Amino acid sequence: MADDPFENMLAQMDRAEEYADVDHGVFERLKHPERTLKVTLPVELESGEVEVFEGFRCQFDGARGPFKGGVRYHPTVSQREVEALAGWMTWKAALVDLPYGGAKGGVICEPKDLTERDLERLTRRYTEGIRRMIGPDIDVPAPDMNTNPQTMAWMMDTYSMYEGYTVPKVVTGKPLEIGGTPGRVEATGRGVSIITEKLFEYLERDLTDASIAIQGFGNVGSNAARLLDDAGARIVATSDVTGAAYDPDGLDVGALGAHVEAGGMIEEYTAGDVRGTGAGSAGDDADLVSNAELLALDVDVLIPAAIEGVITADNVDDLCASAIVEAANGPTTVAADETLTQRDVPVVPDILANAGGIIVSYLEWVQNSQEFSWPLETVNVELERRIGSAFDETIERYDEGEVPDLRTAAYTLALERTASAHEYRGLFP
Ligand code: GLU
Repeated sequence: MADDPFENMLAQMDRAEEYADVDHGVFERLKHPERTLKVTLPVELESGEVEVFEGFRCQFDGARGPFKGGVRYHPTVSQREVEALAGWMTWKAALVDLPYGGAKGGVICEPKDLTERDLERLTRRYTEGIRRMIGPDIDVPAPDMNTNPQTMAWMMDTYSMYEGYTVPKVVTGKPLEIGGTPGRVEATGRGVSIITEKLFEYLERDLTDASIAIQGFGNVGSNAARLLDDAGARIVATSDVTGAAYDPDGLDVGALGAHVEAGGMIEEYTAGDVRGTGAGSAGDDADLVSNAELLALDVDVLIPAAIEGVITADNVDDLCASAIVEAANGPTTVAADETLTQRDVPVVPDILANAGGIIVSYLEWVQNSQEFSWPLETVNVELERRIGSAFDETIERYDEGEVPDLRTAAYTLALERTASAHEYRGLFP
């Protein structure tokens, strides 16, 4: 089932069912998304051509509160993928105990082929398309793959234009100037770094000089790399679509970050064609390897921070990492998971490891409600407290000795919380 993320999510639920204290009827209910809207988006591009895009918004389960989840722009977006991601958002919000249900949106497009103006038009048209479905207390979008604070600003503006007044609370991940919170951009990467440190504490291992490979150097991967590097770990490899930079002595994360920020690709970096820094010295020692080779590196921690379905039955036997921290959503298939459990490789699941984003989105939303803004320090302390206690609860469930792995521990907690909300609310009508 490697290539159907929705089947993979259902299989993860099935693995957890026998350990979760959940009524079977409610459990079956939780396998179906509440609703998915599909929208057709004709956009006149800057080139003068009209291109018709397809977009989705899925609201998976809203028993615990307003729907919450990002919007993704990517060529491989599909209805099934958006529904799987909305399911994962539901379990994530429940696991970290936020008063939210789960949702996700996506548009099938290749953002690299679109100009800034094209992206603005596409975003505004998509927002109009899903406008009747979202709202500050109904469903609150946020950034995901290839979307950012600017995308959220366009979404907020489009929604607000129809409402006739400014509604900052309709999206999170906004620029600071229009109601964003300090710390949101780096929140997911910061959460990954906190969770990796907590994992090492739990395993009674030292993170100093631990080797880490990170697949993906986008918003999540690059911030996780920077913060783990600051924490004393050695980032030995990271990648983008052009390949992976590998240096067993540790990459110069600062130089690589500056290079990528200046629009550079990993392939150029390893060839010594480094942007964003004065000297051309950085990157000289890093070799170019493939993404498949990165996944197979013998490292202390592997952090998949790109797309779903990258650790599968086909490559799991090549994996040598001693632990996996899932920064991406859904990177491991159930078949691969079973092998990793048998091999006793701890895998911190996505719904825990990458929950920093939704936690800080919640903190932004709360500040918008309060019409008050908090300093960065307050946001980071609250992020650490919330993600830390979800980690501790997951470990506590795992240490009871019944569930086979950390994902199942996290799923049982999330499913029990969501099911309990359904039971208290009862079945309408
Ligand atoms: N897109 C992020 C995720 O997958 C964050 C969603 C949000 O902040 O609502 O968790």
